[in-house]
Amino acid sequence: MKQRQLAVFAHPDDEAFGTGGTLACYAAAGVDIALVCATRGEVGEIADESLATPDTLGQVREKELLCAADTLGVRDVVFLGYRDSGMAGTTDNGNSGAFVNAPAEEVVSRLVGIIRQWRPQVVVTFEPNGGYGHPDHIAAHRHTLAAFHAAADPSSYPEQGEAWQASRLFYTAIPRSFFVEMRDRLVAAGVDTSEFDRFEEDGIGWPDDQVNVMVDVAGEIEAKWAALNCHRTQFGPNNLFRRLSDEEIKQMLGREYFALAWPDPDPGLQLAGLFAGLRAGSTN
Ligand SMILES: [Zn+2]
Repeated sequence: MKQRQLAVFAHPDDEAFGTGGTLACYAAAGVDIALVCATRGEVGEIADESLATPDTLGQVREKELLCAADTLGVRDVVFLGYRDSGMAGTTDNGNSGAFVNAPAEEVVSRLVGIIRQWRPQVVVTFEPNGGYGHPDHIAAHRHTLAAFHAAADPSSYPEQGEAWQASRLFYTAIPRSFFVEMRDRLVAAGVDTSEFDRFEEDGIGWPDDQVNVMVDVAGEIEAKWAALNCHRTQFGPNNLFRRLSDEEIKQMLGREYFALAWPDPDPGLQLAGLFAGLRAGSTN
């Protein structure tokens, strides 16, 4: 049986920075990958006004995600169809269609159905703080964690199909040292890093000693870079990454980090990959 992976994120482009190289690497190795995207990123930025208006941004970003998925080799993309809730404290948080306002029962039930249908060995989503605290990222984390466990329980959501116990749940976990390194490189390039200072104050970044998997994606940099560039409305000419040299971009984007959330890892556990040690098709 083939190896299968499910990734659950909130917006088109969430998949590219933290996991694009890993998705490309595993897809190339024959893993079947499905990507769930809770929203179409309707209230994200528009880096170039010729690309979209606030009214069309969702449709444009849907196409951008399909472009990225194709580039990375992701087989299936499922949009849950909720509305982007916007950054914390914005009026979009209160929209009745916003992902953050969707009832947990409803979202978890749908994710349970997807997990039971896709039958992945490995599920990946955001860490509890969603990388940097975006309300939709935190919601995606919360609902995926609940669905991961509910999917394995035959008495939960029986209408959603036969129970499936995935072997591992991982969080994308960009370590604190990454943010420090990024800021140092940008300072050296003469860039205003005040945004990073806020990150630091907020305690952004996953503890380095709780990263369980570091995937070297140097060989997938071109696919990852191409996928990022599919997200044209988000990854515009003023994006901070574009201030780095090609060599620096390769270094910063060439490693991806994950924390094992289930089963509970022993302290200091290091795995060679998300599937390391799992038999293809095995559930244990
Ligand atoms: Zn996002």
